[in-house]
Amino acid sequence: MRTLQGIPASPGIAIGHAFAFLDDEEPMIPRYTVTERELDGEWERFIVAVGKSKDDVSSMRDRATREMGQEHGAIFDAHLLMLDDPEVHDTIENSLRESLLNIEWVVHQYEQATVKQLEGLDDPVLQERTVDVHDITRRILNHLMLRERFSLADLDRDVVLIARNLLPSDMISMNRARVLAIVMDAGGKTSHTAILARAFEIPAVLGLGGVTRLIKNGDTVIVDGNTGDVRVEPDGQTLERYRRVRQKMAERDVDLASIAALPASTSDGRVVLIKANIEVAEEIDSVLRHGASGVGLFRSEFLFLQPGRAPSEETQYLAYRRVLEKMNGLPVTIRTLDIGGDKAIPDLAIEEEKNPLLGWRAIRYCLSDPDLFQDQLRAILRASAYGDARIMFPLISGPGELDAAIASLDEAKTECRRRGQQFREDIPVGIMIEVPSAAMIADILATKVDFFSIGTNDLIQYTIAVDRGNEKVAYLHEPFHPAVLRLVKKIIDDGHAAGIPVSMCGEMASDPFAAVVLLGMGLDEFSMSAVSVPDVKRTIRSVGYADAQTLAAEVLALTSHQETEAFLAHRLADKVSRSG
Ligand code: PEP
Ligand code: MG
Repeated sequence: MRTLQGIPASPGIAIGHAFAFLDDEEPMIPRYTVTERELDGEWERFIVAVGKSKDDVSSMRDRATREMGQEHGAIFDAHLLMLDDPEVHDTIENSLRESLLNIEWVVHQYEQATVKQLEGLDDPVLQERTVDVHDITRRILNHLMLRERFSLADLDRDVVLIARNLLPSDMISMNRARVLAIVMDAGGKTSHTAILARAFEIPAVLGLGGVTRLIKNGDTVIVDGNTGDVRVEPDGQTLERYRRVRQKMAERDVDLASIAALPASTSDGRVVLIKANIEVAEEIDSVLRHGASGVGLFRSEFLFLQPGRAPSEETQYLAYRRVLEKMNGLPVTIRTLDIGGDKAIPDLAIEEEKNPLLGWRAIRYCLSDPDLFQDQLRAILRASAYGDARIMFPLISGPGELDAAIASLDEAKTECRRRGQQFREDIPVGIMIEVPSAAMIADILATKVDFFSIGTNDLIQYTIAVDRGNEKVAYLHEPFHPAVLRLVKKIIDDGHAAGIPVSMCGEMASDPFAAVVLLGMGLDEFSMSAVSVPDVKRTIRSVGYADAQTLAAEVLALTSHQETEAFLAHRLADKVSRSG
């Protein structure tokens, strides 16, 4: 057995046989000379192959738009533009006529040169574009060589897909019902493949480097999308262990599905809301299936991850509207763009900073780019006519920043009114409390907004001074650090004193032990990835509010993270399971 460790990009466990989709294995490209008289014929072949490629891409664009929304269809618009680009045509035609080599070879050479040139520029946006160039030239070559590219749409057995880097077209067109898991050389948590894998609920481990060299077609593979472990040709004992875990998870899923429709109410009648965090509209089916009562955090920055320019007001409006319509009246909290720090978005010009986590990110970035911010605010406002939308500003650190954000929203409202566009005038406005300074003055900020949402991923990072992405100090990222617990309690109390509800959308909210403590502290809403919703709901339903209040008070009197962990393990062991 060989054990590999990659990036856990989409949760779940799968066991199956590997299918190495090494379609990007270079086909043998023929190379021969052609005569002057044959040149026109070669050029004609190229034009026909481009026409067929355009047909393929158009139908994929239509399917992506129909099934997943315009923002995904847009990937293929970029491909269509490239296929029609007169500069590309000129370059290839000139090269054909100068070299007197067959058109397949000329296209192949064009691809190699273009990719090399783009890679040489060392710009992440343009690196992305090499994938597009590759996708398109290969499609043309396949038509030229009358070579039917194996399509993942034709998968007719269950497989663990092993690939170097799946192309956007592969993800969209594949027969998803047959893909048990995805394992790739390339990709990270925010890669397009990862986002779609999560949306489709396919376990995925990415960023494994040379995995395609280590796994052969037909190998038995275990993929653990929760931990990033991939086991190749496992021994009987390991296989049995994972089968049991998977079985347990499946049983739990059935069990949890049965509580999806029930409210999150404690045994003594306190009702809280459990909502879901999403990145893309495709997650909504999963959100509803897992029994979430709304979207507590829509991370809008994922819309900005497509290569090309930042999405227009119209594109954003359609994306937000689609989420609101799919949620059918349930509340959706849309967070304005949170980029910078650990979330670099290639297309937006954020220069390298010495301390990006303390730098030009989130609301700071948006306030410095009024056009970009106004586009987004108007898009959210316009979408608010189609459901229960709320706006949330990230990384607020003080009243001045909040006042400026609210003034920007007023400006966007004025413009929508001037244009005669419908929107919800009293759209609720909230902020994320994720900077210690904001937590310390939560009483002041609470008077200016309609709700708080505690972002513990960042709040812990800034309170304990521990980079959330640095594995060397990950042990310090402690939700039960007394400083974190005191801040969380203060935020909840300050929010309530001002009469506003307090939510939490950081990872802490999805830990069943923490959920009991937070419930006891008076938290009103919890928001987390959809798959965690049933677990937390079951936890809430299994405890009494009065008991949770006592427990929270006891926890607040403890003096260390370790003490709290041990205390909760002791007190909750028979009631609450952290692994379901
Ligand atoms: C957080 O900081 O807790 C949060 C939910 O925001 P993000 O993880 O997107 O920074
Ligand atoms: Mg955050």
